[in-house]
Amino acid sequence: MITSEDRMVPNSLIRTQGYVNGKWVSAASGATFDVTNPATGEVIASVTDMDQSDVRQAIEAAHAAWPAFRDLTAKERSSMLKKWFALILENKDELARLMTMECGKVITESRGEVDYGASFIEWFAEEARRTYGDVIPANTRDKRLVTIKQSIGVVATITPWNFPLAMITRKVGPALAAGCPVIVKPPSETPLTALAVSELAEKAGFPPGVYNTITTSKNAEVGLELCENSKVRKLSFTGSTATGKLLMKQCASNLKKISLELGGNAPFIVFEDADLDAAVKGAMASKFRNSGQTCVCVNRLYVHDAVYNAFVEKLSKAVGALQVGNGLDAQSQIGPLINEKGLDKVKRHVADALAKGAHVHMGGHELEGLFFQPTILTDATADMIIAQDEVFGPVAPIFRFTDEQEVIRQANDTPYGLASYFYSKDINRCWRVAEALDYGMVGINEGMISTEVAPFGGVKESGIGREGSKYGMDYFTEIKYMCFGGM
Ligand code: NAP
Repeated sequence: MITSEDRMVPNSLIRTQGYVNGKWVSAASGATFDVTNPATGEVIASVTDMDQSDVRQAIEAAHAAWPAFRDLTAKERSSMLKKWFALILENKDELARLMTMECGKVITESRGEVDYGASFIEWFAEEARRTYGDVIPANTRDKRLVTIKQSIGVVATITPWNFPLAMITRKVGPALAAGCPVIVKPPSETPLTALAVSELAEKAGFPPGVYNTITTSKNAEVGLELCENSKVRKLSFTGSTATGKLLMKQCASNLKKISLELGGNAPFIVFEDADLDAAVKGAMASKFRNSGQTCVCVNRLYVHDAVYNAFVEKLSKAVGALQVGNGLDAQSQIGPLINEKGLDKVKRHVADALAKGAHVHMGGHELEGLFFQPTILTDATADMIIAQDEVFGPVAPIFRFTDEQEVIRQANDTPYGLASYFYSKDINRCWRVAEALDYGMVGINEGMISTEVAPFGGVKESGIGREGSKYGMDYFTEIKYMCFGGM
């Protein structure tokens, strides 16, 4: 049960001002915007609403802080990151409650996100000390050739509401490790978690101007400044493909370096030789996490004709047991959708699928407020919107197939290429299918693939670049080649 105390905003980490040049500041205009709890519709807080003039100040401060910050030793930056990592874990419960209140995700998942988000800071605190260059065998006897990796400069990050903490740390961790000051633009739905981690960054001792957070509801105006201001040398964005394309166009004005983590349309293939219980477990983890609102959520389940009915039956049992409710209630497994727009999209996808011949096997309806029943649709087909576009909700459409080549073709028949999954016990098939799937990530007999130690990212319209892993720092450094002559 949720007690009235649970419903209260955790006070010690709540901040409603932006964080610029080491100070908590309000927008020059004095404007604010409200943050609401999607589970209840209640306003949690009013946050300062910054605009172009405010973001310019943050850019100036970050730019001024850059030389001294990049000149610290890697070990000095690593120590600050380690301190920040420890502070985030110390405040895990409060951060998790704040996150659940502003984005609706159930509390166990919010705690998991704090761990996941913090893991990037620890990982890049370690990677900071391994930013090696090369010594290159020279092309003539009188030359010596070397490369070094240098910090790219001021980094701006723009992130979505579905991972209010981890999408920030996955970018800011490597940026700070590389010696880049950052300007964080969190989503207007979930600025409170972003401000709370800024407060912990301040406590960790990052110098003024190195860590800045701009809260705003004027995403287009602030985004344009971040893209077009040439003092920002890199933009790292996670969000929808449509916004990513717009930002990329805007960044072309000064050829700013850009990394994009965008939308997906993940296929999940269950072959006739799969372990069905394992496949159900993987589908549950990947489809219903965050009420189906993650970029790596399964969007299309392809099940072989020979095991279709058995799989649907086993999946129905698991889906039928899901508890829907306010994420602060420890029993809840499915929270609300983020807003009306998200709910409308789910309803539109379901209505379109039913009109084109799908059947509701379970669920199919909205509940009170922004909640939607966990839903299974059978007899899904390629002409349905849900086959082409991420539903971003707790709806599992199940397609039928009989042939391996054909299902690979269908799985790849999308402009997206982020995560994909399949289940089979045949090792030859596992290699064959994994290589044939046109995706940045493949889960083979596994539904949970994200970790700080492995490269996260997509191909085609799912983005540019990789986050996490040994590759993650590369996107925040420039390689400098030095040629020593007359040796
Ligand atoms: P979105 O509308 O693109 O918003 C993402 C961020 O961009 C928010 O901070 C948003 O601010 C900001 N934004 C929107 N329009 C902008 C503009 N014109 N200029 C500058 N900033 C702008 O995406 P969303 O629907 O909130 O997030 C869900 C999407 O993110 C899904 O497509 C999901 O697949 C994708 N995603 C991808 C990954 C990945 O790693 N590949 C991870 C998580 C999510 P406001 O909040 O103020 O609108």
